[in-house]
Amino acid sequence: MERYPDESSARKYFEHLRWGDKITCPHCESSKKIYSFNDGKLYKCSECKKQFTVRVGTFLEQSAIPLRKWLFAFYITINHKKGISSIQLSKDLGVTQKSAWFMLHRIRKFTENKDIKLSGIVEADESYFGGKDANKHEHKRGKKPKIMVIGAVERGGNVITQVGDKDKTNPPFIFVLKNVEKGSKLMTDESHNYKLLKTTYNHQTVHHTSKEYVRGEVHIQTLEGYWSHVKRGINGVQHHVSPKHLERYLFEYDYRWNTRTLTDMQRFELVMANMKGRLTYSDLIGKE
Ligand SMILES: [Zn+2]
Repeated sequence: MERYPDESSARKYFEHLRWGDKITCPHCESSKKIYSFNDGKLYKCSECKKQFTVRVGTFLEQSAIPLRKWLFAFYITINHKKGISSIQLSKDLGVTQKSAWFMLHRIRKFTENKDIKLSGIVEADESYFGGKDANKHEHKRGKKPKIMVIGAVERGGNVITQVGDKDKTNPPFIFVLKNVEKGSKLMTDESHNYKLLKTTYNHQTVHHTSKEYVRGEVHIQTLEGYWSHVKRGINGVQHHVSPKHLERYLFEYDYRWNTRTLTDMQRFELVMANMKGRLTYSDLIGKE
């Protein structure tokens, strides 16, 4: 709140993220001569004569929420230990729950990090999310299909998780090949999902069906701990999540885990830097 004491300082921050030092017209991409009006709230391009603000062409265009509230929302959301619900965020920011929900899903999208690769000792496994409604009677449970999630964690390092693909075009072994450096020590259970990886990795397996869970350094308990952490968190804020929304929750959880040694302000700076250049990605403007 001290860093962005008013709407104008928050707007300048977003302008800098989007344009750096050179304001560019979102209509025609010209940056030749841009006029500023209304204390810098509004711009006009001398080439195409159209007006714009920093919101035009970005995910911020769909929302009338003050930019300062957006910055607080980013800070609160990524630093909340177990994830924040839209109800809580709406109270903290003084916006409607619908607005808070919209904000949360946008913010989660920016926590996605596609640049991480795991190495060293890496545990990989699948887990199943959702699939039952705790509020229903026993015999009515289990109607919703469970969602498979694939994950890998580097011991002492980063975690990457992803919603699995029921069409089998993205099976667990492909996920591992994409996200884990060749030659790493790979720990899995005896599942046939990982059998094809023997030549790429130093692959060790624990035999869960024979009740073997740890054999020296061979285990997947770091990842199992992570699954329960994520499930506890998601169940606390949300009763049912669709695969699409689950994916965004996973980004958020992975992000928080992968930045666990940072301070709250460093984590905020990182997510904002991650947003730079992605403000106008069409998938962020797209409808839910
Ligand atoms: Zn223009």
